[in-house]
Amino acid sequence: MRHQYHPLGFEGSRIAQGFWRCAEWNMSPAERLAFIEASLALGVTTFDHADIYGDYLCEGLFGEALALKPALRDNMEIITKCGILLPSGNRPDVGFHRYDYRSQHIIDSVDASLAALQCEYIDTLLLHRPSPLMDADEVAQTLDHLFTLGKVKHFGVSNFTASQFDLLQSRLDAPLVVNQLELSPIALQHFEDGTLDHAQQHAVTPMAWSPLAGGALFSASDHQGVEGNEKILRVRCVLQEIATRREVSIDKVVIAWLLRHPSGICPVMGSGKIERLERVVSATKLVLSDDDWFRIWTASQGHSVP
Ligand code: NAP
Repeated sequence: MRHQYHPLGFEGSRIAQGFWRCAEWNMSPAERLAFIEASLALGVTTFDHADIYGDYLCEGLFGEALALKPALRDNMEIITKCGILLPSGNRPDVGFHRYDYRSQHIIDSVDASLAALQCEYIDTLLLHRPSPLMDADEVAQTLDHLFTLGKVKHFGVSNFTASQFDLLQSRLDAPLVVNQLELSPIALQHFEDGTLDHAQQHAVTPMAWSPLAGGALFSASDHQGVEGNEKILRVRCVLQEIATRREVSIDKVVIAWLLRHPSGICPVMGSGKIERLERVVSATKLVLSDDDWFRIWTASQGHSVP
């Protein structure tokens, strides 16, 4: 089944699958391939990576599976990211946890990602996090170079404020098509700080990372005493009430809540269980009432709207 194109500028599926946790899934290459094929069959054709995921191992795990059936490459969009340096046994050259957006690092990172993913181009390359030392002119020239070489088709950013986005865009000919942000009923900051308004104004697709709060929506308990736990429990209580009334699961309600936002949020799911992905894909058909949308919003804020 071919994917449904996103309503805004970004060409990808309405829901994406992330591979950050893929090293924890303990799948054989054949099982990973089966997971990729099952995702594609659900219409989830956009796969999200970063060079650093799984201690620099996740891209390679995906590439190993893709190599079993290389023709699948034409049916998917691969996103990966660069810019974070993470000290790791797999990267003895990295001395300190920091950011690097110098030209040579971006080029080397893309080449390493292509080799690990075992493919010839990246659909969308994201700058993983904004850096105070990022030289927008140097980055823009480097991205143009990668585009000219055919190694990257589109560019975007992640965790950028509106002004950080504008600075880079002002130097770059290619339009930035994505800003990947933490967005969930537990993480409301970008709904209010102008980032989603900016994305909507410039037809940039906001992708939601950790849309289920990284699983905390399910695992938080009264006894954990984790900071923010009270908020999670409040939100879960409202989600449960709506889920029971609508006869659906909590995760489906959360994804329908994100999809309802007019900026066209694309949730990036993180579970390695295909049945969970299947369930949230069906959220594209669940329409929440505005009352229910604001019930969830109010539970997260801890107070009624003014
Ligand atoms: P998530 O979907 O919010 O959380 C996934 C976690 O929740 C998994 O541990 C999963 O466990 C658990 N989970 C999901 N459904 C569940 C259910 N019904 N009951 C109990 N547990 C459940 O997303 P995420 O993994 O935190 O992030 C998604 C993707 O966003 C990542 O893979 C990555 O691609 C991207 N990301 C980007 C950034 C960035 O800075 N740009 C940062 C973080 C993540 P199971 O596997 O056992 O189902």
